[in-house]
Amino acid sequence: MEILDGKTTAESIKQEIAAQVQSLIAAGRRPPHLAAILVGNDGASETYVGHKERDCHQVGITSTIFRFDASVTEQELLQTVTQINANPSIDGLIIQLPLPKHIDDQLIIEAINPAKDVDGFHPVNVGKIMLGLPAFIPATPDGVIELLKRYNIQTKGKHCVVLGRSNIVGRPMANLLLHKGPQGDCTVTVCHSYTPNIKEICLEADIIIAALGVPRFLKADMVKEGAVVIDVGITRLPADTKSGFCLVGDVDFEHVAPKCSYITPVPGGVGPMTRVLLLKNTLRVAQNTL
Ligand code: NAP
Repeated sequence: MEILDGKTTAESIKQEIAAQVQSLIAAGRRPPHLAAILVGNDGASETYVGHKERDCHQVGITSTIFRFDASVTEQELLQTVTQINANPSIDGLIIQLPLPKHIDDQLIIEAINPAKDVDGFHPVNVGKIMLGLPAFIPATPDGVIELLKRYNIQTKGKHCVVLGRSNIVGRPMANLLLHKGPQGDCTVTVCHSYTPNIKEICLEADIIIAALGVPRFLKADMVKEGAVVIDVGITRLPADTKSGFCLVGDVDFEHVAPKCSYITPVPGGVGPMTRVLLLKNTLRVAQNTL
């Protein structure tokens, strides 16, 4: 069994990105610039945006956070998105989700210029991914693909089971694995909360990607010997730690790992890859290399 070390892999990708940012600057260009819209003061959202800001700083990408009180109106947010779309000094824009209940997430996402939609959530990018055209790919499934690539894991002809069908992870993940070519050419099964026989389906999988948000859902008796297991899940559970919580994945790592050929840990697996792929998308806008 080999651990798919997302932390170390992400660090080396960060160094590649930092070098490319330096090349842009050496060529007389400004550094890439990522903007984030953050509404309210949800602890997890603050943490995620804080991480993204720190990541940007580490690789030389400029980062601006547009903060709004939870009482902000849809109109005010739309106005800000329009201003950022028109601002030539900003390359990428992300909206930290979830937004407060009175705001329609989809309306705000659809207002983003698809050419600045580095999260890959705009319907134009979603459609392009479906068609296998160049597009911004959501950072989490892109991070999984990059991890498979860097560890040279063969996907061609393999049966891949994706647990979860969300718009940001499960669906784009399944789509990417269906694409023709490297890190694609899989036979893909997608499971969700109405799938009756998940255990039997998982037992037939060469590769399992768990993205449910159900702590330790995937047990050892659901995994065949030699499978590749990628754990996307992150749930904060109360714990006797400094922060008061611990991060738990969707895989019962302790018991599943011995059966696997490769497995990602939580934390230190898909999470760091997600963060670094967002930086890569932002760099692509600045380089005009999508
Ligand atoms: P989501 O929008 O809540 O989607 C969860 C999916 O799992 C849904 O399709 C749901 O089915 C399915 N599901 C839930 N419980 C199930 C069960 N008991 N059996 C079968 N299917 C079940 O979540 P998400 O945004 O995709 O995120 C999934 C997990 O990944 C979360 O823990 C999240 O924190 C984590 N995540 C991690 C990263 C990272 O960087 N590592 C990034 C994004 C998300 P239905 O569609 O039928 O409801």
